[in-house]
Amino acid sequence: MAAVGSFLWARSQSGLWQLRIDDIDPPRAAQGAVAAITACLDAHGLGHDGAIDYQSSHSQRYDAALQQLTDQGDLFHCVCTRATLAENGSCRGGCAEQSRPPDAETSLRIKVPEETVINIDDGVSGAETWQLGRQLNNFIVRRRDGLYAYQLAAAVDDALPAITQVVRGKDLLDSTPRQIFIRQRLGLESPQYAHLPVVTNSQGFKLSKQTGAAAVDLSRPEDNLRTALVALGQPMPPATINNAAALIDWSIAHWQPNRVPR
Ligand SMILES: [Zn+2]
Repeated sequence: MAAVGSFLWARSQSGLWQLRIDDIDPPRAAQGAVAAITACLDAHGLGHDGAIDYQSSHSQRYDAALQQLTDQGDLFHCVCTRATLAENGSCRGGCAEQSRPPDAETSLRIKVPEETVINIDDGVSGAETWQLGRQLNNFIVRRRDGLYAYQLAAAVDDALPAITQVVRGKDLLDSTPRQIFIRQRLGLESPQYAHLPVVTNSQGFKLSKQTGAAAVDLSRPEDNLRTALVALGQPMPPATINNAAALIDWSIAHWQPNRVPR
């Protein structure tokens, strides 16, 4: 549904819609996953613009960001283990005060000054404010196993001048202030944000493969699109429109972001 919402939002403004694959975490990248994603999008009339952008091809970009943050004194090595971390995942040991990197494998954390406050004007929910420094006074930007943290990669990639708007599910709302903070330290502009409601089951869980939801049924893209339009609060296309491409065209012309439920 986030795909439908972000596609309609972009196209209603004559914008381009780029497909980025977040594959910086090799253990989680499943073979054939990208083909399945593009097949699903295509079946629903959601064609992306340009080549698919793979985060795994941007190591230099992430290394440069980590180097800049290191040079600015924003990072520290953390030796904490899962067992010794605070409940919110922040480091509570004296890692930040150690001037030399320890010998053991470490993660890299970014220091968030306690007074740090992040504000956005969300395209759906309006003003959002986070007392980031109090909620989370440091967080991981490079993992203990050497992989880049999702927050770092997304922060850097979403700062590209071509990215003017990030439309995604509300399940990622907690990531937004962290990504904005990283960009602030890097001197980079942030895009506009809009966080869409996430379809949940009766227990309030996000529907996904992990929670046992059935995979998207590609034989009924029209039904799927109408279901997504309802969840997005959008006007319903006439019943005479019965193919995915035409449903999408109609919905682009009738897209009303102010009707998206908060
Ligand atoms: Zn630590």
